Amino acid sequence: MASEISQQHQLHVFIFPVTAQGHIIPMINIARLFAARGVKTTIISTPINAITLSKTIDQDKLSGLDINIQTIPFPAVEVGLPEGTESVTQLASPDMMPKFFLAVGMLQQPFEKLLEEYRPDFVVADMFLAWTTEAAAKFGIPRLIFHGTNIFSQCVAESLRINKPFESIINDEESFLVPGLPDNIEMTLSQVPEHIKKETDSLFCVVAEKIRISEQKSYGVLVNSFYELESAYADHYKNSVGIRAWQIGPVSLRNNDTLDKAERGKESSIEEHSVLKWLDSKKPNSVIYVSFGSMSKIPNDQLTEIATGLEESGCSFIWVVRKMMTDKEEKFLPEGFEERMEGNGLIIREWAPQVLILDHPAVGGFMTHCGWNSILESITAGVPMITWPMFAEQFYNEKFVTQVLKIGNTVGAEEWKEWVETTNVSVIKEEKISKAVTQLMNDDGEENKEMRKRVIELSEKAKRAVKEDGSSNVQLTALIEELKMSKKQNINIDKELDFIGY
Ligand code: UDP
Repeated sequence: MASEISQQHQLHVFIFPVTAQGHIIPMINIARLFAARGVKTTIISTPINAITLSKTIDQDKLSGLDINIQTIPFPAVEVGLPEGTESVTQLASPDMMPKFFLAVGMLQQPFEKLLEEYRPDFVVADMFLAWTTEAAAKFGIPRLIFHGTNIFSQCVAESLRINKPFESIINDEESFLVPGLPDNIEMTLSQVPEHIKKETDSLFCVVAEKIRISEQKSYGVLVNSFYELESAYADHYKNSVGIRAWQIGPVSLRNNDTLDKAERGKESSIEEHSVLKWLDSKKPNSVIYVSFGSMSKIPNDQLTEIATGLEESGCSFIWVVRKMMTDKEEKFLPEGFEERMEGNGLIIREWAPQVLILDHPAVGGFMTHCGWNSILESITAGVPMITWPMFAEQFYNEKFVTQVLKIGNTVGAEEWKEWVETTNVSVIKEEKISKAVTQLMNDDGEENKEMRKRVIELSEKAKRAVKEDGSSNVQLTALIEELKMSKKQNINIDKELDFIGY
């Protein structure tokens, strides 16, 4: 009887990530955080992604967590995408995006069936699944949004959308201030996303508007960051933008042993122990880690400049290379590069165990495309950055790192791109790359020392945030308690209705 009552009061959550690693990885960790708090957790996934996830989730189940995966087929063929497509990274060109979004929209019906069958108490769904707010509401279920980014960038985007400070700017390189924010944030016209500059009927504009409306109608936002990192923006978001948010990160701290850190997202292209052995042979803070996330595709001419810039800097490096889909031939490395770099540089093709690498004491810098997970993982590891934003909200994230937190230097990227392949963007030359690396890694000046000190302090705060009395842990508890309370009230209302014969 007691267990029946406790089952009746046990919360059940549906976690629904969209099919891109930068969103799936943190959402799986969020799922595991809920499960570890005794919440029955069901991850909604597409079949191929589910195979990758099941390794981690099976392990969690063995350790006693109430966590499961429920699959929904991804209608790739039905919309004209190649069979087996489930992820944005598999799309060969931006022309395929409308089809991809069409397929994502077709997940609504099977998702509603699952809602009807299992009646979870709440849903946490990726921002790109805007229709989940409405779908969940049909069954009286609250939906929380996961944007995959921080609150700072949400505040910047909202200010740009409302105030349009760029409207009087003519030159692409001219900078302007983003109004109404807790800090003076400066950016240039060419760094502003196209769909913010011009409201059109383009796919991105339509999708962005749907996301905005679904956010307003949702229960609130779950954020992978921690209060101390962006407190002024968390307060601004709540008071000025008017949306409730729970900061429960860094969720990568959920991956707390070597295997768990190595197996996030995809299988690594390199055995984790061989990377660790390589790093063990290096001095503290002597290696720069260069990686541009799970989606970016860099053209050959830019890869050549990176190779030359890294060689020129003389620093040890780990460089994760994923090439453009159309650049089949591997002809970007300068003649004899790999032989010359032997022992000094490690190239990892496709997928690296990123958190494991960043956490190693030999790593002293991260050249990053400014995806939010990468930045937060770098902060958590206490590693300063060289920022090289490319698309999505990455330019906002760069400003957060360089202008607010002051824990990184920019490489000097200027042009926002709509798509993950950085074609038609000016190539960043080797001199700039080598200068940025040498400045971060070899300069012993006061400014650099202060920057390292700041990022280490933030790293300590990040780790404290997920401790028992830490802010992220407390916010997660508050959310769970609130949802439990609302479940209890609903049960009581149902009982009363039963009692009076409804
Ligand atoms: N990642 C990884 N190995 C790689 C590339 C990426 O583990 O070789 C992980 C990285 O740790 C992060 C995520 O993939 O958690 C990328 O997310 P981010 O927000 O940084 O960028 P996105 O891929 O979404 O552009």
